[in-house]
Amino acid sequence: MNRTYQSTRGGEKGLTASQAILKGLACDGGLFMPDSIPQLDVPMKTLAGMSYQEIAYETMKLFLTDFTEEELKGCIAKAYDSKFDTEEIAELAKADGDYYLELYHGSTIAFKDMALSILPHLMTVSAKKNGVSNEIVILAATSGDTGKAAMAGFAGVPGTRIVVFYPKGGVSRVQELQMVTQKGDNTAVVAIHGNFDDAQTGVKHIFGDSSFADHLEKNGFQLSSANSINIGRLVPQVAYYVYAYAKLLENGEIEDGETVNVTVPTGNFGNILAAYFAKKMGVPLGRLICASNENKVLYDFFSTGVYDRNRPFILTSSPSMDILISSNLERLIYLSCGCDTEKTAALMANLSGGGKYEVTEEMRSYMADFWGGFAGEGETAAVIKSLFESCGYLIDTHTGVAAAVCRQYKEKTGDSHKMIIASTASPFKFSGSVLEAIAGPGQEKDEFAIVDELSRISGVAVPAAVEEIRTAPVRHTRECDPADMEKQVAEFLGCPLA
Ligand SMILES: *Cc1c(COP(=O)(O)O)cnc(C)c1O
Repeated sequence: MNRTYQSTRGGEKGLTASQAILKGLACDGGLFMPDSIPQLDVPMKTLAGMSYQEIAYETMKLFLTDFTEEELKGCIAKAYDSKFDTEEIAELAKADGDYYLELYHGSTIAFKDMALSILPHLMTVSAKKNGVSNEIVILAATSGDTGKAAMAGFAGVPGTRIVVFYPKGGVSRVQELQMVTQKGDNTAVVAIHGNFDDAQTGVKHIFGDSSFADHLEKNGFQLSSANSINIGRLVPQVAYYVYAYAKLLENGEIEDGETVNVTVPTGNFGNILAAYFAKKMGVPLGRLICASNENKVLYDFFSTGVYDRNRPFILTSSPSMDILISSNLERLIYLSCGCDTEKTAALMANLSGGGKYEVTEEMRSYMADFWGGFAGEGETAAVIKSLFESCGYLIDTHTGVAAAVCRQYKEKTGDSHKMIIASTASPFKFSGSVLEAIAGPGQEKDEFAIVDELSRISGVAVPAAVEEIRTAPVRHTRECDPADMEKQVAEFLGCPLA
């Protein structure tokens, strides 16, 4: 069956998967969605005996129907290889009765690697399939982890260039060092004088600027997106929820068909939406618990039906979730109103105008699978400490937010189904905050002294991705105001704006 893709806002339809991946964002600013969510066509018992790569294939083939088996298997093989420090690719660790799905075993030690190690391959295959001869220029706004993971994926990939924008002062020291030391002549990193939402809005603006697109076209370039709005990011993420359930079954932790809940530390709503897709495809997942930090716009949304971004932007110790505009929520909005593109477009226009929209009761009841919660800094630190002291298991601050919200959920609802918690980053990526959580305030100041101290206390070896940046030279020093982002892109590409 040939699946087609359409914009959530109605401006484009009938695209193949490869065309949707190449475009990233639709011309009308909407996000691409498949015409329907496919059903897994292999029984869970069979999936239970498969490797990560095999399960990724069984999941992704149902969405990327214009890729041949050889093309898709080739992409999967290139992505999920020894870049990951475990053959399992994603590991399940049991602690305090919950299953932590460790999504941080890739080259940049955060879950973004799960999708961004394969996206460049999906994109180059897509370009070939569609006869694209322009160089593809990836633009990405990052709250810290996407940028590095995207550059690691695209660095040195022929026919591609990548420009990453991050909020200056809004990412952890390790995240910043990972980015500014990035190698590869096709990579550029720009620090924005603003927050993540400024960077993301700026990137969306560039995508919507047709005169800029013309300028690039004349110079042999075309833009695409590596942000989680790209359907080529969402689809690979569905695979690890299928995998997690299959492994729990294989390991005898659950019965076939047993309902398992999932808690996801959420920012842009991509990861949790992938869990929702997995559920819709037939994986027996129950409640999807959406964990926010103090930027709790999603908690408020799920409790009231009103999405309101008009509030202060709070910098927390889980910076990859410091987000007030969760882009992927648009896909759930679209599904919840029966794929009504006019309705979706109108709500999104309210969001970009007054920064606010309200969904109907009917739409809210469609979203009943989701449960919103949030955790403050103190609660997050406390759960990191208690998990470490009781089980010797170390988690990062983002996963800490999820663990705290998971506890709230169980207390408030009494729901005792087993729980998968998406563990989205290595604790070493946020060493300062993690060390402070387990050893108290007043820790050493130097980033690498902290890393070593954390390794000593926890008995966990420092990951290679952190070792690498100890001595790596800084290669990127660009900075700009949000208004000058186009200018930066054009300069890097060697075709400055007149
Ligand atoms: C990106 C990120 C998140 C948020 O994921 P979304 O898909 O944007 O909701 C959570 N934790 C970490 C470590 C991340 O890098």
